[in-house]
Parts: sequence; C-alpha cells; structure tokens
Amino acid sequence: MAPGAMSRWTKSLSEARPVSYWLDDPGRPDPEPALTGAETCDLLVVGGGYSGLWTALIAKERDPARDVVLVEGREAGWAASGRNGGFCAASLTHGLPNGLTRWPDEIHTLQRLGARNLDAIEETVARHSIDCDFERSGEIDVATEPYQAWELKDWYEGIRAKGLADDVEYLDADAVREQVNSPTFRAGLYDRRGVAMLNPARLAWGLKRACLGLGVRVYEHTPALTLKPYGGGMAVRTPYGRIRARAVALGTNVFPSLVRRVRSYTVPVYDYALMTEPLTADRLASVGWKNRQGLGDSANQFHYFRLSADNRILWGGYDAVYPYGGRVRAEYDDRPETYARLAGHFFTCFPQLEGVRFTHAWGGAIDTCSRFSAFFGTAYTGRVAYAAGYTGLGVGATRFGAEVMLDLLAGERTERTELEMVRRKPLPFPPEPFAWTGIALTKWSLARADARGGRRNLWLRTMDRLGLGFDS
Ligand SMILES: Cc1cc2nc3c(=O)[nH]c(=O)nc-3n(C[C@H](O)[C@H](O)[C@H](O)COP(=O)(O)OP(=O)(O)OC[C@H]3O[C@@H](n4cnc5c(N)ncnc54)[C@H](O)[C@@H]3O)c2cc1C
Repeated sequence: MAPGAMSRWTKSLSEARPVSYWLDDPGRPDPEPALTGAETCDLLVVGGGYSGLWTALIAKERDPARDVVLVEGREAGWAASGRNGGFCAASLTHGLPNGLTRWPDEIHTLQRLGARNLDAIEETVARHSIDCDFERSGEIDVATEPYQAWELKDWYEGIRAKGLADDVEYLDADAVREQVNSPTFRAGLYDRRGVAMLNPARLAWGLKRACLGLGVRVYEHTPALTLKPYGGGMAVRTPYGRIRARAVALGTNVFPSLVRRVRSYTVPVYDYALMTEPLTADRLASVGWKNRQGLGDSANQFHYFRLSADNRILWGGYDAVYPYGGRVRAEYDDRPETYARLAGHFFTCFPQLEGVRFTHAWGGAIDTCSRFSAFFGTAYTGRVAYAAGYTGLGVGATRFGAEVMLDLLAGERTERTELEMVRRKPLPFPPEPFAWTGIALTKWSLARADARGGRRNLWLRTMDRLGLGFDS
C-alpha cells in the first residue's frame, strides 16, 4: 500500500464511529426488564439473537398455549444479529458450493427447504409488519480476476447441468457492469430470488416485538449462568432469579455454550464492515445499482457489499480474524488496521466514489465451525436442544435452525431432522496452540491461493479431502 494512498483512504475514515451502523439507530427499543425472582415455563429460550427469537416466535406459532420465556444476557440483537451485512440468503449451507460438496445427495432437498425458509421469513416480516427494509433483490457473485471468471462460468455450467441454476444467470463483464459499475468486475452470477437485503438490527427488534405480542416473556440483561436437570425438566440460574422449564433451546451462537461439550465445535472469527454516508444522486448514478442487489466477490478472502435503504454502501469482509485463545471480547470489535484495508479495497472497486466518507466502522464475532454450516443436537435426554455454527451465513438459516431445535425438543422426525446435515456434527476444533496454528496456516494458504490464480497448496488440498476448512 503506497503511503500517499494510505493517507487518502484513511481520511475517509476520520469521522467513522466505531459502532454498528444498524445498532446506532434512534429507533432502538428499550430493553425489557431483567428477571428478578422465580419463573416457570414450558420452553425456555436462551439468547436474544435471531436464533433465539425465531425459536420463541415459532414455538408460539406452533402452539399458542405453550408458555415461553426468553432470556438474553445483554440486549436483543446486540451481537452478530445487529452487526451483520443483512444478506438474508435462502442457502442453509453457507452457499451452494459448500452444500454441494458436503451433501451432494441432499442438495436438492436443502435448496428447496432453504427457499421455503426465505419465503417464510418474507411472510413473517409482512405478517408482523416488521419494518426492516426487506428487499428480495438477489445477489451477484462477481469475479474480479480472470481465473475467477473462468471458474464462475464452469461452475455455472455445472450447476445448470444438475438442475440447480433455475434462478441464476451468468453475466459477462459488460452485463455485470451494467448492473453495478466497477472497473474490477469481469463476470458475475446473478441469483435473483435466493437472497434478500434487510436491516439486520430492525429484524431482531421486530422479532422481539412479535414475540412479546404473542405472549413470550422476554427478560433482557439476564444471562443464564447455569443449566441443570431438575425433576423432569431443567433449571437455570440467572443473576437475580431462577427458571424451571420443561425444555430449553439454546440460541447462544459463538458465546460459551451452557452445554460444555458443544464448545469445541465453534471458534469466534471476527469480521468487519464499513458504512458510507448516503450517496448523492450523482454518485449513485455513477455506480448504477438500480436493482439494489447485494454483491460478493469470489476470492477466498472475499468482500460483501450492498446498499442501505438510504443509499449508503455497506462494505465488509476480507479480513477474518481469529484471536489466539478463541475468546469473545469487546476489544476485538474494533480494528482500525482492517478498516484502513477495507477502505482501500472500497476505492479500488469504486474509484468514481473518491471523496465519499465512512460514517461507521465495526466488527463482530462469527461462530465459525469446520464445515461452515450449522450443526444441531440435544442434551439431557432430549430436554435441551442447540443449534450453532452458522459461520457467516446465519441471517436466514437461523430460522431453519429454530425449526430444527423445536422438532428435536418435540421428539418429532421431520424432513428437517432426517437430513444428514442435521444428524451429523462437524469435526471439532483442537485446543490451543493447535487451533491457532491450523487456522493461521489455512488463512496464509488461502491468501496465497488468491494471489496465485486460485491454485491451492498441499495444505488446502489435504484440508479439502478431510472436509475441513476456515471461512467467515
Ligand atoms: C460482521 C458480521 C457480518 C455478517 N454478515 C452476515 C450476512 O450478511 N448474512 C448472513 O447470513 N450472516 C451474516 N453474519 C452472521 C449472522 O449475523 C449470524 O449467523 C446470526 O446473527 C446468528 O444469530 P444468533 O442468534 O445465532 O447469534 P447472536 O446474534 O450472536 O445472538 C446470540 C445471543 O445469545 C446471547 N447469549 C449468549 N449466551 C447467553 C447466556 N448464557 N444467557 C443469555 N443470553 C446469552 C448473546 O448475548 C447474544 O445476544 C455476519 C456476522 C457478523 C459478525
């Protein structure tokens, strides 16, 4: 990075607030009071991100008589659910390539269930009047290097032959630039139906409101401290109270699970994003972007970018940072060196936007697991269910995970619970220093592959054969 260029890019960050743009919203609701005293319920949901909120909501929709309590350690939506890019994808498998590699025999079912899940999110948003700027505007995967353009074309031919490309269109360089104008774009795959853009924090807050409306008792600033069997159900202790529940669903994502053995399946990987000021009409016209789709590039270290409702550009990704020891800590949420790198990449992609300023820059922890898509299970003879490991694609998939947790707690065999993806777990991460060393070697190899025409080294090929990897 040339020093002159560096100072030009960093200037664009001079007024960026180190908080999630989505959470920095005057419409942010007040938290519900903390639990004080004793509670009992049929179902206790732990976690007030999408995972927990969908579980509570669907539990009530399935059986309005069920008594449901949700506890959130801080405030609903404060973590990943209020910091993400807002790409709400139909894919349940962290993208079709990952799903097709891991579950080729189930992929058609997974794709169908995923599309149905996204339809159900759209319906719920409408039914509960959730004001989250839901736009089913699709996504384009763009190639920015010649080898990526060839790979994208090959991939498109391959999925078309398998009947998996019904709503997907291949765009050459002119066609992709006609959609969104960047000199770096060489080709694209446009999925018009499979992804929606939304305001993530408002989705979480809207789900909380819908839960309250259906009679879920929500307690915020109420961490569940312990989880123990009690009679035929479970007992949970909180700082000022205790809860007895027939069943418990854990939607605690990357935070240490109350079921200890689940912890080694995920590691926190920090992902960062920038938000620009709203673009003027002229600046927006210089980019085009009339169809308002999301975009992501096809490198291993990829960027994702999209418009907000008021025509800002969110630009995130690339650096995926695993802190040694695998802890979730507030200090990792802010990373100026990554912001500067992202800003540089932004102006390389959109040189016509030189002079635009960033108003927000933030990070958050992703619950990465070694197969990049969620895993599920039960504990305490079926009284506790958990779902985690969504990696960087949980906005939509957490709703599916909520359904799976409820199926498992009900002891029901459904199309969902029969999936190999649901029945089998990923490989866990090893303890330190092996986790850090393995991840560092993988990240170094991925960056090298990006710089060398996509060629994967021996380490990556071995990991591929073992079905292991690292992603955000
Ligand atoms: C920067 C960033 C960008 C992303 N971009 C996208 C994207 O564009 N598209 C996409 O699909 N995915 C994206 N993701 C991932 C997505 O945000 C997550 O998969 C999703 O939000 C997970 O929801 P969740 O409810 O499982 O977790 P969270 O939102 O993390 O919620 C878990 C909640 O559980 C609470 N909790 C934990 N332990 C306890 C306890 N013991 N007691 C009480 N409460 C507890 C926490 O306080 C937290 O609120 C991104 C993530 C990040 C960080």
